[in-house]
Amino acid sequence: MSLQIHINGKLLPQEEAKISVYDHGLLYGDGVFEGMRIYAGKVFKLEEHIERLWESAEAICLDIPTTPENMAAAVNETVAANKDQDINYVRLVVTRGAGYLGLSPDKTSHPQVIIIADHIELYSQEKYKKGLEIITASTIRNHPAALSPRIKSLNYLNNILAKIECVRAGYPEALMLNHKGEVAECTGDNVFLVKQGELYTPPLDAGLLAGITRAVIIDLARQAGRQVHEVPLTRHDVYVADECFLTGSAAEVVPVVKVDYRTIGDGKPGNVTVALQKAYHDLTMKP
Ligand code: PMP
Repeated sequence: MSLQIHINGKLLPQEEAKISVYDHGLLYGDGVFEGMRIYAGKVFKLEEHIERLWESAEAICLDIPTTPENMAAAVNETVAANKDQDINYVRLVVTRGAGYLGLSPDKTSHPQVIIIADHIELYSQEKYKKGLEIITASTIRNHPAALSPRIKSLNYLNNILAKIECVRAGYPEALMLNHKGEVAECTGDNVFLVKQGELYTPPLDAGLLAGITRAVIIDLARQAGRQVHEVPLTRHDVYVADECFLTGSAAEVVPVVKVDYRTIGDGKPGNVTVALQKAYHDLTMKP
């Protein structure tokens, strides 16, 4: 059976879910999106994702043609319609809509709302147990004054260029620096360090997506009595950290054991990382 895709208020079989070749989402990456996880049939942190979608849309002057409440209902409806399929992830996309072959959104009408429930698995189970080896990309993260990384826009070329670099070098993920040479994030995940039992992660103004998993991990760490510092970090901090891990809705919590061919800590996922992985897993399984 094919997946049921939600497109502009209707559920259609995958083969019939189509949008215009004049859509500015396709022509210019002009649109916004969210990626969410389904745990035990329920979308995790749905409200937070919808809030961020609205913020991204506002930042690009895109009016989403529905309310947050109706969008949440549409997401749940899409998940329910595909409940017998192997799904664990929802992609929510809002494009600028079909226009003409010019940049201006003035001539576009009808932003397109697309909801896809599907299966995602970014890394093998082994990587969650043994940790990733990553490298720093030479492609820096978008300058916040040019295109803020706070916007989860459909234009992901910046991240894709960094991804191409690491994949060609034989690594699954890349650390991205900002225009000041500070650590920003990875191509699709936020980054955390652990040093002497305390957590460190770059602040939002270092130019990164305000990850929803990042916020959950900060809360879980603080609940466990750990200090969490949102401070500018350099590659030096990464190299001398005891532990490093990445967070993201799709990636969840994944340990990093090598960065730029240097071993982090003792080269195994550290105790704090493993405890947070477990705490995150337990939270996602809560009814
Ligand atoms: N940074 C970037 C660039 C991302 O695309 C994502 C989402 N894949 C994240 C961080 C993690 O965000 P979240 O925890 O909200 O999924």
